[in-house]
Amino acid sequence: MDEAGQVNGVCASHGSAGEAAIGPPHRFMLDPGPITEVHAFWLAGMSCDGCSVSILGAQSPSVEQLLNAGLPGLPKVILHHPVLSVSWGKEFMKAHHLAKAGKLGAPYVVIYEGSVADESIAGAFGGYWSAMGAGSGDKAGPIPTAHWLRDLAPGAAAVIAVGTCATWGGIPAAAGNVTGSMSVMDYLGKDYLSALGLPPINVPGCAPVGDNMTETVSTVLMFLAGIGPLPELDELGRPAWMFKRTVHQGCTRAGDYEEGVFAKKMGDPECLVELGCWGPVVQCNIVYRGAQSHAGGCMNTGGICIGCTMPGFPDDFAPFYKTPPGTVLSSTASRTTGSFVRPLRRIMQRQHNREHRWIRDGGTVPSGWGKVSARGGLVDQATHFFYKKLQSLNTQFRPGSKRQIALQEASHRYIRTRPTADGQAGGEASL
Ligand code: SF4
Repeated sequence: MDEAGQVNGVCASHGSAGEAAIGPPHRFMLDPGPITEVHAFWLAGMSCDGCSVSILGAQSPSVEQLLNAGLPGLPKVILHHPVLSVSWGKEFMKAHHLAKAGKLGAPYVVIYEGSVADESIAGAFGGYWSAMGAGSGDKAGPIPTAHWLRDLAPGAAAVIAVGTCATWGGIPAAAGNVTGSMSVMDYLGKDYLSALGLPPINVPGCAPVGDNMTETVSTVLMFLAGIGPLPELDELGRPAWMFKRTVHQGCTRAGDYEEGVFAKKMGDPECLVELGCWGPVVQCNIVYRGAQSHAGGCMNTGGICIGCTMPGFPDDFAPFYKTPPGTVLSSTASRTTGSFVRPLRRIMQRQHNREHRWIRDGGTVPSGWGKVSARGGLVDQATHFFYKKLQSLNTQFRPGSKRQIALQEASHRYIRTRPTADGQAGGEASL
């Protein structure tokens, strides 16, 4: 409870009107949950800090909302981030040591960015790969973040791996690396379960969509606060609702793929599969969610999908910008069906670009734009005629049908018989 009489930003005494009048305004009249604060220890292993940059752009929810308890019913997040926190040195590391000793007095989650290097390799040379804080006595010297993960994970309500390096090993674990880098779940092992009984939760992406991270954190917080179910995770610990569908299924260019129209060079607006796009097999929501502030996302900005959310990245998708072999089969199939379907669709498209009025009134198009035929050629007219027949099959509610005329008869009769301003009966001419 803070000095203003609020618990977690919500007025603690919202029982009487008198008290409410002198207290700060009620926000949503929600009782705080059993947990009002959750610490989040952000650990950075073999990372480029791109995940941190990405999460700062999140909007649904934003980092600020999480830190200020801005989501109704959710506990406030106390973030311990090596770059974003304002405290430093021993003061910054204090909570880490308390949590390790089991004396923090509040639940916490561990968020790990970057892959976990094999510190025994660097240790053999008297060094370290990534570290934070320092030990004392015979353990003096930098403390590897891998060891912080090892020591904090057992007591954590949840361990969340953010970014592909943390979820699957990513670039630091690619072929040829000398660091022995691995994912958080590989490092913690098959038997690891958090205090809530969860294996690590994985939010992949290089960098991941910021909203994917904050939304995952908020669903874990909802569960902790007792106001939401355990988030639905897939067989690899990914939030299922974010990573079930492929990039291709949400791509703005999927219609081109279906019609067998492919970009020949970067910058072309069509499907990029022949330029090396792996979207058809990659599970990611970046195209429809956007990269930052709901804008951008690889194909939306002209880029191909290189599979950065997948466990096999980067080695399985290299060399980049080379047509994936499976494309030979699928794009040939699309070209074949597309060459038949596409012209038919264009005929229908032309027909639907005409107002009914133009046809009814004799075929003139009142437009200063290019020459447009109100009826189209013979092929267009014949196709449209038979298509309309099929479209209105088994329905009495097509435009101009007897049923429609009967239903509208009352209003037509009123217009016909209604006295006009000069006292005359209305008529068809006035319609
Ligand atoms: Fe699918 Fe990639 Fe083509 Fe988009 S650009 S439609 S993801 S293959």
